[in-house]
Amino acid sequence: MPQRRTKLLADKRSAAEGMVDVSKSVRFTHAAWHAEGVRRFGDDPMGWRFVCPSCGHVASVMDWKEAGAPEGAVAFSCIGRYMGATDDKTFHRAGGPCDYTGGGLFKLNPVEVEVEGKVQAVFAFADATAEVQV
Ligand SMILES: [Zn+2]
Repeated sequence: MPQRRTKLLADKRSAAEGMVDVSKSVRFTHAAWHAEGVRRFGDDPMGWRFVCPSCGHVASVMDWKEAGAPEGAVAFSCIGRYMGATDDKTFHRAGGPCDYTGGGLFKLNPVEVEVEGKVQAVFAFADATAEVQV
């Protein structure tokens, strides 16, 4: 039944599209990444917004700060970790926040930024028009 097989393949593909494809990682120099942040959100990094690759939650740098997250968690671990989120929303890309961390076993952070010779994997920038979800 070729039609049925085609449908199964389509279902598998759409399920896979829900997750970030790490083979599509993009790498920036720190200067280029900073310039992209300024282009999208302006000069003040506190207003820059990022998408959690695990749950899709959008948070600003200010949100992380207000949640009491350390600087190293910004755009690296989901803000939910600092708001008491549990792992039931982790990896579903269906809204959050969740308790994902870029330092865990499953590394989904899709953007690599070179800082002083080291590469840091971070969340992707949110669209400038995306609403910040709280
Ligand atoms: Zn999350």
